[in-house]
This record gives sequence, C-alpha cells and structure tokens, in this order.
Amino acid sequence: MKLVVLGAAESGIGAAILARKQGYEVFVSDNGSIREQFKATLEARGLPYEEGGHTESRLAEADVIVKSPGIPDTAPAIQALRSKGTPILSEIEFAGRYLSASRTICITGSNGKTTTTSLIYHILQKAGFDVGLAGNIGHSLALQVAETPHEWYVVELSSFQLDNMYDFRADIAVLLNITPDHLDRYDFCMQNYVESKMRILRNQRPEDFFIYWRGDEYIPTELRKVRPASRCLGFSDTCEEGSSGYADAGTFRLAAPADFSMPLSDLSLPGRHNLRNCLAAASAALAAGVPAEVVRAGLQDFPGVEHRLERVAEVGGVLYINDSKATNVDACRCALDSMTRPTILILGGKDKGNDYAAIQSLVREKCKALVFLGADNAKLHACFGETGLPIADTHSMAACVAACRQFATAGDVVLLSPCCASFDLFRNMEDRGEQFKDCVLHGDD
Ligand code: ADP
Repeated sequence: MKLVVLGAAESGIGAAILARKQGYEVFVSDNGSIREQFKATLEARGLPYEEGGHTESRLAEADVIVKSPGIPDTAPAIQALRSKGTPILSEIEFAGRYLSASRTICITGSNGKTTTTSLIYHILQKAGFDVGLAGNIGHSLALQVAETPHEWYVVELSSFQLDNMYDFRADIAVLLNITPDHLDRYDFCMQNYVESKMRILRNQRPEDFFIYWRGDEYIPTELRKVRPASRCLGFSDTCEEGSSGYADAGTFRLAAPADFSMPLSDLSLPGRHNLRNCLAAASAALAAGVPAEVVRAGLQDFPGVEHRLERVAEVGGVLYINDSKATNVDACRCALDSMTRPTILILGGKDKGNDYAAIQSLVREKCKALVFLGADNAKLHACFGETGLPIADTHSMAACVAACRQFATAGDVVLLSPCCASFDLFRNMEDRGEQFKDCVLHGDD
C-alpha cells in the first residue's frame, strides 16, 4: 500500500513515521521548502521526500493521502486527488486507526483551545495518568502513537483537522465556542465552519461524553439537529436550569459528570473566558476519572500558558502581564475585563482592520494610561486620543517598557494585550512576548 504525506512539518513527519511502522510504502511531498530540522529527520530515517512542488505521478500512485491541515481543499493537487477518489485523511484520523486501547480527550472551539487543552493535560498529569499532549498545540499524535504510546491523549483540534476526519472517535469531546474565523477556507459561509466544528461529535457512542458551552450562539441550535449519541454536558456562566456546571455566589460548581465545587477565587486563571475553560477542563477531567481533589488542586496551581495572560513578574508592586497572543480586539477585551487593578495597557502592531470602539468604554473604565507600540500608531491616536488618558508613543519594546515604568506606581498592572498582529516590529507574537518579558526582567541591567 502506498501512502503519500502532503506537507512536511510536525504532523506530516509524524504521520510518515507511523505509516512506515505500519508497513506502508511512504513518500513525503511538500509544495514549499522543508525546514532543516524536518529534513534531517526524514533523511535520518531514510524516508523519501521532495520539496518545492508535488510530482503528479507520485500522487497519482497513492492508495491513501495524509494531508497537512494547512493545505486548503482548493489546492490543485487536492482537487485532482479528489476527482480520482483517493482517500484524503488528516494526521489525527490516520493516527486514530492505531490507537488500540488508548483513550482521547479532544478539544476544539474558535477560542480557548490551547488553554483548555493544556489545563486538562496538567490535571491528568497531576493525577498520575499516562498521558500525551497532541494535535494543533504542536505535537504530532501519530508520532506518539508510533513511538511513545500513552493510555490517554489530550488532543487540540482545529477545524482543518476535523475536516478530514471520518472514523475517528473522541471518548471525551469538548466544544468551547464557535465564532467567525477562517471563513476564507469555508467558502465564506459561517454554516460550513459551524458544521466543521460539530464534526467532533462524529462516531461518539452512548458511553462517551460531549462537553460544550451552552451560552454559544450556534452550538445549542446545532445540537437540536445533530442529536448526539453521547452523554451531553452543557455548562453555562451562571446557574441555569439543566446546566452541568456554572459559577454562582463565588463558587465554581459542577453538577455533572460528578458533584464538584470550589471557591471561584481559588482558580489560577483569571477572567470570565477562562472560567468557561476551567468548567470545560474540570468536566473533562472528572469524566476521565480524575479524583475531585486532584481536579481542584490542578485548577488552583495551573501556571497558565505562555503569552496568554501570563504573569511575568511583580516589580516594585507593579504586576506585568504578557498577553501577546491577543492579536484581535476581542481577545484584548477578555483580558481587560479580567483586570482588577489600575491598568497601563500596551496596544498596537499590525492592524487587521480593527474596530476599537468595542473596547473604548472598557479602556476608560480600567486604564490609567496607554502605551502604543507599533511601526505606525496613527490609528490608535485617532481612536483613543479622545479618552483623555495619558499616552506614550513608542516603536520598540525597550522604549515601550520604559514608558510603562514611568506611568506605573505600586498597585498597578502593566498589560501587553495589543489587539494587533506583531509582524510590523517582531517576528511573531512569541517574539513580541519574549522581548516584553526580557525587558521587564532585565530592562535595568
Ligand atoms: P486558541 O488555541 O483557540 O487560539 P488560546 O487558549 O490560545 O485559544 O487563547 C487565545 C485567546 O483567546 C486568549 O488570549 C483569550 O483572549 C481568548 N480566549 C481564551 N479562551 C476563551 C474562551 N473560552 N472564549 C473566548 N475567548 C477566549
């Protein structure tokens, strides 16, 4: 049997290694250039590959294709394979065929996937489970199945991965929310994207769990159409008839899959959006059989995920928070909403057509000063000038953090939650977050 992997990055290399182990004749093909580290792996393992284009005859010979989630269905090579009827799978679908007795907790949603996935993994590890972390978060499921098999996998799934999943079954599925995203890959049709997210329910059985947020605009409506076979646990922000979990009078509470409660103030993650992530994670961990006291301890000491409302340091009574991942206005709104101290907010970068009106009143309410950090801050001045707040205009991280120091006094918070992409001054959002942390921690050196 011939298997061709399209796309030679993390998931593609993992799929190639698993396929070879399962006896396939494997070929790896990448339209662009393959990163050195991946090329070295392919060569060390004697896996044949090509880069800079796909050889049509190699693809035509394939009995099965494993496609990277980054390649759209509209790519000519994919369309040719489709019309020929060659099965096209995602790496997760392929790996799922060889899971044997392992069980999976799969997390999807438009926002909060990485946070919730990491939190569930943290709790399962704490409980001593033999658990692997996989999927969109950056680790190949196929590679782990091939080389370091686990009893449990916590898998972050993007809609692109779900699109090429057919027989895969999640023992515990989590759907956090559905808001418009990636519509360019869904014929600009929201319903197509919604249906892609709902695929996480496919093949679930009565003994499986489906955990979702009832407050979402789309999920409850879709559930009335889909009627899942699994046990459905819908959580909400506040106490509502039929909710499996919620926050009420300072208490974090679950009614299912088990009775569970703890003080809200003990959750390590701040903010209403993180409350939802915690409700989802606690439900999933209890459904997996983690004892309540371990779930409680895990929610208390989860350190958070880098670049997402990450506490950097408290310097002279000023708390510095890195939320570099907030590359859109909504993410910044979530962050500001969770601030309980006078805030110096860092905004700016590559604007993607942002409408800042959505956060203006929140900025007035929570902020004592603004620091703009971008190659061109003109739009920010136009939008926030009228707030009357003190503003500093900066074009490098060092100047930005120095300006924040000028504004801040003990008891304040400095929040990097810039609403914008980072490519104007930084390599990516990680680079922006790293530089921020570096300037906070070593700026005076
Ligand atoms: P993803 O992996 O889906 O991109 P992350 O966990 O990396 O999600 O969070 C990205 C950003 O999305 C966070 O900075 C936060 O502002 C926002 N966010 C996180 N969880 C939620 C949620 N449950 N609902 C809405 N927004 C959220």
